[in-house]
Amino acid sequence: MIHEWTPTRISPGNSPTITTDTLCPTCWLHPETPTHLHQCNHPTRNKIYQTLQLQLSKLFFKFNLDLHLYQMYWLGLRNTHDNQTQHTINMYPPPFHNLFQTQSEIGWKQLHYSRFSKHWTHYLSQHHPTSKPQLSTPRYLP
Ligand SMILES: [Zn+2]
Repeated sequence: MIHEWTPTRISPGNSPTITTDTLCPTCWLHPETPTHLHQCNHPTRNKIYQTLQLQLSKLFFKFNLDLHLYQMYWLGLRNTHDNQTQHTINMYPPPFHNLFQTQSEIGWKQLHYSRFSKHWTHYLSQHHPTSKPQLSTPRYLP
């Protein structure tokens, strides 16, 4: 997904000329652009996003991260393009406002490319300085 080179049916490296070739192979309703890849509402893709959401929530729980951070990441990831009206700074307490504002400035779409504003790191280093993965207990064979 780097730099819009997501291997969708319409991307800078792939411009098919037949209209049906541009449609999303899951819903067959919209051109499969990198944007549509994250917004397709077909049940098959919804299931994939539900799995992703579950895995993300487990990671945030594992690292004991603030749920506001999880919410901001998830909503930012899902509402990255045209519909930012449902994701507003007022959804978060003041300690998250700098983070929200700076990510808004560089674009929520950047989360798809693992580009976070520096305030994510700043927030994490201040509020979760020891957030490291819990190593599982070593297993020994008898
Ligand atoms: Zn689709």
